[in-house]
Amino acid sequence: MLARTIGVLWRLALLTVALTAALDFQHHRYDALVEALLGVQRDCPFISRLYSIGRSQQGRHLYVLELSDYPGVHELLEPEFKYIGNMHGNEVLGRELLIQLAQYLCEEYKRRNPRITSLIHKTRIHILPTMNPDGYEVAAEQGPEMNYYLSGRANARGVDLNRNFPDLHLAMQKLEGRNHHIALTDNWQQQVEVETFAVINWMQSYNFVLSANLHGGAVVANYPFDKAQAHVGRGNYRADVSSTPDHELFQKLARVYSYAHGWMHSGTNCGDYFPEGITNGASWYSLAKGMQDFNYLHTNCFEITLELSCQKFPPQSVLQREWYGNREALLAYIEEVHKGIKGMVFDENNNGIPDAVISVFGINHDVTTGSDGDYFRLLLPGKYIVTASAQGYESQAAHVSVNGNQSTRLDFRLVPKVVPSATTSAFPLQLNVTNRVPLRRVGPRAIGRRPPWEHPHQRLKQHGQ
Ligand SMILES: [Zn+2]
Repeated sequence: MLARTIGVLWRLALLTVALTAALDFQHHRYDALVEALLGVQRDCPFISRLYSIGRSQQGRHLYVLELSDYPGVHELLEPEFKYIGNMHGNEVLGRELLIQLAQYLCEEYKRRNPRITSLIHKTRIHILPTMNPDGYEVAAEQGPEMNYYLSGRANARGVDLNRNFPDLHLAMQKLEGRNHHIALTDNWQQQVEVETFAVINWMQSYNFVLSANLHGGAVVANYPFDKAQAHVGRGNYRADVSSTPDHELFQKLARVYSYAHGWMHSGTNCGDYFPEGITNGASWYSLAKGMQDFNYLHTNCFEITLELSCQKFPPQSVLQREWYGNREALLAYIEEVHKGIKGMVFDENNNGIPDAVISVFGINHDVTTGSDGDYFRLLLPGKYIVTASAQGYESQAAHVSVNGNQSTRLDFRLVPKVVPSATTSAFPLQLNVTNRVPLRRVGPRAIGRRPPWEHPHQRLKQHGQ
């Protein structure tokens, strides 16, 4: 009997080791991080792809591990999701959790865990474990004892990357509240750090739907806006909520993380109190040029900021406990990308229309279709009127009912606008074929010259039609 009990215990112990062996609970310096990501790619070559979005100031790659059933390919109607860690180089838990998440997804996929298999098949997950590899090396040089100190927070040029994104709030005010797809100034590249530049390029290259940015120093899920809107008195910002038109949706996304997390939802961590473990960014403290506001104002992506540990650089001994505290939350949050509505916007020939605008009545924040004509609009359960519009087409509205489980499919087929015949002859064409003939006869010197009868404004007008 005793031998049998020992045998069972031994098998249980082996099983526990096997379950945790694939995850590696240690701090990863840059080389170890790269090795760990390559390890996932080696172990799961058919569902992963390692790519770099650029280099840090000191030349370290900003590596992203993609996990999907068709790595490298955007499949129609399959949403793109991203996690970003270690933007502040000394806030290291997110970096380690994201390495563990990548290893876990790979291992569980191989084990045919139905939940993970479904997630990988339905989602394109991009994981950037560190946005600030240079800062991390400074912090890691000093080690966990340097908790709460600022060494390594900024990048190698001393710039805080979460204060380095273009401030689109000012543009939003000028646009009288229009808050989606706000254009960047022509010289934005010169005004940001190389790490920020790489991340903005990345955001513009993929039609991300949902994202989280992992930090440390508190335990709370923080949702936009980070920048206060109300300006009271002489430079004092009122600690009011600075809400987006998607305020309740953001609160729900933050709650999904906090309640699935081991202890975040209690709200009492690190000497702070945040009801339900969530907070609006500006009502905690206002910050400008942050990444989550930029996501909302410039792209289709909804991002929240997760503060995950009281200690910015926790000792290695707590990493396993932190993984178990965060694992379910990391998964549940990715699954939120499959809520709301999604669908195609087609033209009359059944081709997808890129950059078509999807508006929801009553919510002043539009999303657009990707290059293939598919769109994703996160929404809370309820009934909505949704309109699709695109240049040159008649807009089309539809009623839709959204449940709390899976996204509702809603496609649109747009009909080209009928152009009144009067407008086609609004500008008499002066540059016609017969007019061109004498120009060609003049010889090579005339190439590129404007015909003498054509005024530059006429040229513009003709192009504008
Ligand atoms: Zn931070």
